[in-house]
Amino acid sequence: LSSAAQDVIDEIEENDVDFLRLQFTDILGTVKNVAVPATQAEKAFTEGIYFDGSSIEGFVRIQESDMRLKPDPETFAVLPWRDGRSARLICDVINTSTGEPFEGDPRYILKQAIARAEEMGYEINAAPEPEFFLFEEDEEGRATTKTNDVGGYFDLAPKDLASDVRRDIIYGLENMDFEIEASHHEVAEGQHEINFEYDDALTTADNVGTFRTVVRAIAAQHDLHATFMPKPISKINGSGMHTHLSLFTEDGENAFHDGDDEFDLSETAKQFLAGILDHAPAITAVSNPTVNSYKRLVPGYEAPVYVAWSDRNRSALIRKPAARVPAASRIEARFPDPSCNPYLAFAALIHAGLDGIERGLEADDPVRENIYEFDEQKREEYGIETLPSNLGEALDALQEDEVVQDALGEHVYEKFVEAKTQEYDEFRVDVSDWELDRYLETF
Ligand code: GLU
Ligand code: MG
Ligand code: MG
Repeated sequence: LSSAAQDVIDEIEENDVDFLRLQFTDILGTVKNVAVPATQAEKAFTEGIYFDGSSIEGFVRIQESDMRLKPDPETFAVLPWRDGRSARLICDVINTSTGEPFEGDPRYILKQAIARAEEMGYEINAAPEPEFFLFEEDEEGRATTKTNDVGGYFDLAPKDLASDVRRDIIYGLENMDFEIEASHHEVAEGQHEINFEYDDALTTADNVGTFRTVVRAIAAQHDLHATFMPKPISKINGSGMHTHLSLFTEDGENAFHDGDDEFDLSETAKQFLAGILDHAPAITAVSNPTVNSYKRLVPGYEAPVYVAWSDRNRSALIRKPAARVPAASRIEARFPDPSCNPYLAFAALIHAGLDGIERGLEADDPVRENIYEFDEQKREEYGIETLPSNLGEALDALQEDEVVQDALGEHVYEKFVEAKTQEYDEFRVDVSDWELDRYLETF
């Protein structure tokens, strides 16, 4: 047993943990778990736990279904609900026939991206800002779209009725070792944001899954439904998952910082951001992977629509936030939303950025005006392209972008496109309420 695994076993005893939830993520980003009695911990570390991969979305075909979960001891955390008697471990998925990592495991895909960065001499830090709505439940406990407050950006109680819920969510997250930086009411009614400390890209992707689980579980204790759906209500702000990224060299220097640059961005940072801009349409399929995602990416709601970067305004795809200290120089990708699979979205962003560095791409000048207000002619003048306007277009872009395809690896790429094409086709043939309202009595 490794010493990290032994530490976990000691902690299980100290905390009287009865059950272990072994977690992993499917291709669509849903956290899956299998519970085993805590007495199985040692076996889980030495032999792994076997499961049937054919029942997991996008994993494997029935004839090659045996998979093994290998818990990562670094991810041990006691769950703050259930009286602290359950703990979770995030697992890597191993292909039992080869004994190698399973190439359909999103966590493995992100590890590959991190390994490529390491080969180039970089470590990657990431910090996401997942926004979410809190909605009331109906009598049957089903989610509605009725917000439980009328608060707005940074409002206080009593307008912000959810501040108690948010406080409990924060306690829950802190119990799971999250370092919370800030929390606030977002712009829309019923919309919230809780920011947690940046970490290396893998830990951060793990954290996103945990965050979504904790937020939903604690909201439910208050009879509220927390949703990370990108645009639950039309004509008001949707929920993004802005992702801050920076590269550090092996000796701990921030490779994105350059004090002599007007924007405090190094050449490396500009190449990295140019890489993301270059591959943005294809990345969108991964970072904004639902039909609903594209209802958020429209002008006027602080979500990006145009492929450009800026050192100030929020209509751009990438923003350079002000940094207080050199270590904090970073870029903020504003297009991802919280319906994405964080492992795959980060992998796509990282590979695109590294591609920018490898090709020595040059970033255009930042756009300082509000791009929402540009007309087509002005956009053309500035050479600004538009993001895909629906999931179908994003999938087309992905099918033309080998860098982002390679970021996902063949297995995930194929399964992802298959699942998402089906999702988009279903939506395309569905007759919506909007159409009925608009046409039923007109024609
Ligand atoms: N809710 C906005 C979005 O869809 C972002 C608001 C903000 O800047 O935090 O991305
Ligand atoms: Mg926000
Ligand atoms: Mg932000």
